[in-house]
Amino acid sequence: MATRDYYDVLGVGRDADEAQVKKAFRRLARELHPDVNAHDPDAEAKFKEAAEAYEVLSDVERRQLYDAYGHDGLKTGGYAPNFEGFGSISDLFSAFFGAGGGFDGAFGGGRARGGAVQGGDVAVAVAIDLAEAAHGTPVEVAYDARARCTTCNGNGATPGTPIETCSRCRGTGQLQAVSRTAFGQLVRSAVCDVCGGDGRVPRDPCQTCRGDGMVVEQRRVEVEVPQGIADGQRIRLSGRGHAGERGGPSGDLYVVVRVREDERFLRDGSDLVTVVDVAAPLAALGTTIEVPTLDGPVPVEVRAGTQPGETITLGGRGMPPLSRGRTGDLRVVVNVKIPRRLTREQRDLLERFSESLTEDNQRDDEGMIAKLRRVLAG
Ligand SMILES: [Zn+2]
Ligand SMILES: [Zn+2]
Repeated sequence: MATRDYYDVLGVGRDADEAQVKKAFRRLARELHPDVNAHDPDAEAKFKEAAEAYEVLSDVERRQLYDAYGHDGLKTGGYAPNFEGFGSISDLFSAFFGAGGGFDGAFGGGRARGGAVQGGDVAVAVAIDLAEAAHGTPVEVAYDARARCTTCNGNGATPGTPIETCSRCRGTGQLQAVSRTAFGQLVRSAVCDVCGGDGRVPRDPCQTCRGDGMVVEQRRVEVEVPQGIADGQRIRLSGRGHAGERGGPSGDLYVVVRVREDERFLRDGSDLVTVVDVAAPLAALGTTIEVPTLDGPVPVEVRAGTQPGETITLGGRGMPPLSRGRTGDLRVVVNVKIPRRLTREQRDLLERFSESLTEDNQRDDEGMIAKLRRVLAG
């Protein structure tokens, strides 16, 4: 994402005072809060953007640098926004607004304590052929994902045994760490490493998941690869990733599609390019050749007098569009083959043929330079 103007991000004028900046940031944060905005996949990126703008505009020194030199000035000044260390947008919010965060009750607080955490994403790669990419194809992917243990139903205790208060965090599920940021000291809550944020630990851990509440499950999913997909594109299957913790939603499954190279074709956007050999006499006489396409070979007319490198375009024989747009073409480059070795008889014939050539045989409407231009233009 391109870095936007910080004043635009917060929606304040360049003369906004500290209180206005703070107010604008709180208003944005309230809109982007995951509790009210669970359906907006961009909320996290937007909040990070707003937080970055706020970190700069709420700091007198940074704001001066930014006003004078823009984003580059901040880089030179040694400021690099970094919100990547936070595990999720919920962590980010609790860092900015949670207990001890320096903001008073923007959202009533308390959210961070053992809160729901979304499960991680899983990525798997599949390889398909170019023809499969052109037509679309179902693929089966296998992967491992964390899932809730069915023996203990996720609470980590052997069924019927007690769960006790965690002694490390005294049941709060959180350990607090202090770090320095633009706000001065910021108390960041971290999830307790003993109870994993539950605040409670089973006395007799579940045998199936060893008290974790989660097991690794092997899954197979059939995925429909849409026609027109390009090498390296990803298909997202919402909610098919790792299970969330404490009631959080599951992560997503990303299927990365690799399209294998096809030695017969080069891909040029939605067009395909192929090369066919035509013997020199046949190029002069005209002939019909067999051209490979994604739907099998088709006969193609080569008109008499076809020159080396000339292109025959087969409309609509390229790749289909992924969403909208037109199907590409297949461009067939004619490679006129000059025989490398000749028998005595062939040599005699060619010599006689050569002697018979007149200027009229070689006449060409297109000059050599024009021809080169056309070849270089592709
Ligand atoms: Zn279990
Ligand atoms: Zn604990």
